[in-house]
Amino acid sequence: MSATKYIFVTGGVTSSLGKGIISASLATLLQSRGYSVTIQKFDPYINIDPGTLNPYEHGECYVTNDGAETDLDLGHYERFLNRPTSQDNNVTTGRIYQSVIDKERRGDYLGKTVQVIPHITDEIKRRMKLLGQSGEFEVVITELGGTVGDIEALPYVEAVRQFKWEMPDDCMVVHLTLVPYLAAAGELKTKPTQHSVKMLQESGVQPDVLVCRSEHPIDDDIKRKLALFCNVKKEAVVESLDAETIYAVPVLMRNEKLDEIVLKRLSLPTESAPDISRWKDFLYKLRYPSSEVTIGLIGKYVELRDAYKSIAEAFIHAGAANECKVNVKWIHSENLSAKDINKELHDLDGILVAPGFGERGFEGKLRAVQYARENNIPFLGICLGMQCAVIEFARNVLNKPKANSSEINPSTPDPVIHLMESQKDITDKGGTMRLGAYDCKVAKDSTAHKVYRREMISERHRHRFEYNNSYLEQYEAAGMIATGINPENNLVEIVEIPSHQWFIGVQFHPEYKSTVANPHPLFVSFVEAAIKQSNSKD
Ligand code: GLN
Repeated sequence: MSATKYIFVTGGVTSSLGKGIISASLATLLQSRGYSVTIQKFDPYINIDPGTLNPYEHGECYVTNDGAETDLDLGHYERFLNRPTSQDNNVTTGRIYQSVIDKERRGDYLGKTVQVIPHITDEIKRRMKLLGQSGEFEVVITELGGTVGDIEALPYVEAVRQFKWEMPDDCMVVHLTLVPYLAAAGELKTKPTQHSVKMLQESGVQPDVLVCRSEHPIDDDIKRKLALFCNVKKEAVVESLDAETIYAVPVLMRNEKLDEIVLKRLSLPTESAPDISRWKDFLYKLRYPSSEVTIGLIGKYVELRDAYKSIAEAFIHAGAANECKVNVKWIHSENLSAKDINKELHDLDGILVAPGFGERGFEGKLRAVQYARENNIPFLGICLGMQCAVIEFARNVLNKPKANSSEINPSTPDPVIHLMESQKDITDKGGTMRLGAYDCKVAKDSTAHKVYRREMISERHRHRFEYNNSYLEQYEAAGMIATGINPENNLVEIVEIPSHQWFIGVQFHPEYKSTVANPHPLFVSFVEAAIKQSNSKD
């Protein structure tokens, strides 16, 4: 018998039902019963990873410690489980094919015809088992991207069928589906779910549990009907009502006993109840804040909230830690003209300039930095946001009106942000940025040191351009200090303006490391500063 149990989460009827959140919630419940759990995501697109995808296509690209550019659901996995993921937690069709084709070129298939079945499905199964075989995890949850019935998802569903056939006692399928409410009929409708389960069955996969997303409670009659038509036990038909926050879902799933149903199916003990008291404390703080602030998020993809998912979630964690409701005002940097800036930003208690690439909306970001700096409003600049802070300071304090990043203007006379040496010969776009976790040494007596309470930190990166150290002395003499430095190559990771109440720019992405159990200290401190700012207005 295999030591690891495998749970597959499939989706039916429509996309966007929240497979990632259901997977993360189930994992949270199992983890709080003492199991070591990880979650992996299999995405059926042909890109090797989402790193080359425009955020409009697929939302934020989430970066792991080991420098993998991954699907944003991995962010949810880390935020819920408080455990790092890695490259192994996100596999795409592109990656599967790449390894099969590499093997074919090496001659590993010994003259055989290489086919979807068995070669692609074998590679999918190998990847599905990889984390389980590390010996680190008792339960591996695998979320299958896409919707059952998609042509591109077929090899994955076939791999799951084979998996179930080969290890019937050690794996199971949770199918997430939609039970829509037809207002005209005044009824919840089960037919779409029946059809999507039929589609799975046609591929030889019988789901063990149905999690039914619905806007209205699913009564016993509906559960009975779904059980009968879908070959699922009635107690394994679980209702998943819309929640006011994703963080309520583990509690909702606990109320529906999803964890117990799963454990029983996998013949694992169910006696001791999970301890989710800390999770509930967090939810309580989230629901009953004692203060409220508004922080502006200045970016160029603000109409698409998923592009800044981890930042939005980090504010939720930091808000709860401060018992404060953080309203994020999404502000399009392209619309921030000199004329509108005061109107758009005057009511903010904090300003965050977001990460990004390219010229669109860049000047608006610089205006937002200037506004924060000159009006003493708490400011956090992340990656491109930090670079904007450096450029704005050069233009308006160091008197270098043409200062820029060589990303935006390659022929600027003052490239205060320039291409990293290690990037100069790189032509391929995929997976070639400076990616993943690097150490940073924090200067004593800095705000960053007060925030982290440590001298050595490690944070995740995703960039090609960096602070140009030849300007360092001029900056420091004028009051913008480099307070975080990579000890190996002297790269400036953190800048601060000590004369300002709270002004920090970071080359790395703190948002990726913020979790429910460990809200990121930079966000916690930033929200604290925003609360002070808000109180000072009263
Ligand atoms: N475009 C900038 C760079 O490549 C910043 C990247 C980012 O914000 N993630 O350095």
